[in-house]
Amino acid sequence: MSETFARAGWILGFDSRCGGRKPESSDPWRLILLGPPGVGKGTQAELLSHNLGACHLSTGDVFRAANSIPVEKRTPVLQSVLEFMRRGELVPDNIVLQIIRERLVCLHCGGGFLLDGFPRTVAQAEALQELLDADGLSLSAVINYEMQLEKIVGRISGRLTCSMCGSSFHLMHHRPRAQGICDACGGSLYQREDDRPESVKARMENYQRTAQPLIDFYRRHGLLIPIVADGPPEEVCRNALTAINIHAPHHKGAEPPNGPALAI
Ligand code: AMP
Repeated sequence: MSETFARAGWILGFDSRCGGRKPESSDPWRLILLGPPGVGKGTQAELLSHNLGACHLSTGDVFRAANSIPVEKRTPVLQSVLEFMRRGELVPDNIVLQIIRERLVCLHCGGGFLLDGFPRTVAQAEALQELLDADGLSLSAVINYEMQLEKIVGRISGRLTCSMCGSSFHLMHHRPRAQGICDACGGSLYQREDDRPESVKARMENYQRTAQPLIDFYRRHGLLIPIVADGPPEEVCRNALTAINIHAPHHKGAEPPNGPALAI
């Protein structure tokens, strides 16, 4: 499974259809990816998506897409979301949950999901649990990517993001082949507004304040899998695949044909 599934349904909400060719799985993976900003969750989500067939669903991507809507067409709620984001603050739970409810079809998808950036608070986690319980669905596992703070700050400050496909690059560690141009789609690269130093500081403070209760919540539910995120992305991904297969061995077909060390 090497295709990246189109995520129009997720990014644009209930008015749009899933553009992907998503295979139905009898036992899809439903994973949550936790970890501070800059730990590499986006990259890991893409690698896991290729291996497991589940869509990478990021709430941050939904909010960033809203940024391209012309100012005069933004609703007051949308405008306030963008302001929370610009300040590096969390968007209030009620707004985030409204966004999720408009995209429930993605959570019900037969291909499963990889949630990145949601839930961010225990209230969001409880609401997600209720939404899944209501349809008899359950989470497979929650992967918690861990890395030292100083390394994270260095990573974020050099990060460049593609304006078209969202791929991440880094000025030092993962340079694009042509300066300012995305290797994957040719889109132009930019520094995310929330990757600027003043936003990064606020995001890290917010993360540290809200993450621990969330981590404890999923540990209590027996779903938490810690993964050391400091290493080559392919190795981190292999470790995660091995760990989730051990955690949830009933998932048929999850393990790559030659064991978890699938070339990515
Ligand atoms: P991310 O790309 O996940 O780091 O998200 C970027 C920004 O979007 C965050 O700094 C928040 O302002 C907002 N955001 C994304 N997901 C959530 C969420 N689940 N709850 C609150 N705010 C969110």
